[in-house]
Amino acid sequence: MGFIRATCGHEVENIDDLKTVALAEYSRLNQRCVSRASVCESCYQTAELEGRILYDQDQENKWLGIDYD
Ligand SMILES: [Zn+2]
Repeated sequence: MGFIRATCGHEVENIDDLKTVALAEYSRLNQRCVSRASVCESCYQTAELEGRILYDQDQENKWLGIDYD
Protein backbone atom coordinates (compact mmCIF):
# COMPACT_ATOMS: atom_id res chain seq x y z
CA MET A 1 0.00 0.00 0.00
CA GLY A 2 1.67 3.15 -1.18
CA PHE A 3 0.95 6.79 -1.09
CA ILE A 4 -0.17 9.09 -3.85
CA ARG A 5 1.62 12.38 -4.20
CA ALA A 6 -0.78 15.21 -4.86
CA THR A 7 0.05 18.25 -6.96
CA CYS A 8 0.33 20.30 -3.77
CA GLY A 9 3.21 18.09 -2.66
CA HIS A 10 1.38 16.28 0.11
CA GLU A 11 0.76 12.56 0.06
CA VAL A 12 -2.58 10.87 0.44
CA GLU A 13 -3.37 7.21 0.96
CA ASN A 14 -6.40 6.99 -1.26
CA ILE A 15 -7.16 8.43 -4.68
CA ASP A 16 -10.53 9.48 -3.27
CA ASP A 17 -8.72 11.87 -0.93
CA LEU A 18 -7.60 13.94 -3.90
CA LYS A 19 -9.66 16.80 -5.18
CA THR A 20 -9.26 17.93 -8.76
CA VAL A 21 -9.52 21.67 -9.01
CA ALA A 22 -8.92 24.56 -11.35
CA LEU A 23 -6.89 27.19 -9.55
CA ALA A 24 -6.64 30.86 -10.43
CA GLU A 25 -2.93 31.54 -10.67
CA TYR A 26 -0.37 33.78 -12.27
CA SER A 27 2.16 32.49 -14.75
CA ARG A 28 5.86 33.24 -14.56
CA LEU A 29 5.20 36.11 -16.95
CA ASN A 30 2.70 37.43 -14.43
CA GLN A 31 -0.24 36.71 -16.67
CA ARG A 32 -3.41 35.15 -15.37
CA CYS A 33 -3.64 31.43 -15.94
CA VAL A 34 -5.66 28.45 -14.82
CA SER A 35 -3.81 25.60 -13.22
CA ARG A 36 -5.43 22.19 -12.96
CA ALA A 37 -4.30 20.29 -9.94
CA SER A 38 -5.08 17.34 -7.72
CA VAL A 39 -4.75 18.57 -4.18
CA CYS A 40 -5.31 17.13 -0.73
CA GLU A 41 -8.31 18.06 1.38
CA SER A 42 -6.41 20.55 3.51
CA CYS A 43 -4.95 22.41 0.53
CA TYR A 44 -8.37 22.41 -1.10
CA GLN A 45 -9.82 24.15 1.93
CA THR A 46 -7.00 26.67 1.98
CA ALA A 47 -7.49 27.47 -1.70
CA GLU A 48 -11.21 27.76 -1.11
CA LEU A 49 -10.67 30.22 1.75
CA GLU A 50 -8.32 32.23 -0.43
CA GLY A 51 -10.93 32.30 -3.19
CA ARG A 52 -8.54 30.71 -5.70
CA ILE A 53 -10.82 27.92 -6.88
CA LEU A 54 -12.60 28.32 -10.21
CA TYR A 55 -15.69 26.16 -10.05
CA ASP A 56 -16.79 26.16 -13.66
CA GLN A 57 -15.88 27.19 -17.19
CA ASP A 58 -17.59 30.52 -16.75
CA GLN A 59 -15.44 31.44 -13.77
CA GLU A 60 -12.33 30.28 -15.62
CA ASN A 61 -13.20 32.52 -18.56
CA LYS A 62 -13.82 35.48 -16.28
CA TRP A 63 -10.49 34.96 -14.54
CA LEU A 64 -8.74 34.78 -17.91
CA GLY A 65 -10.62 37.83 -19.12
CA ILE A 66 -12.39 35.99 -21.91
CA ASP A 67 -15.75 37.42 -22.78
CA TYR A 68 -18.31 35.76 -24.96
CA ASP A 69 -21.05 37.99 -26.20
ZN1 LIG B 1 -1.83 19.42 0.21
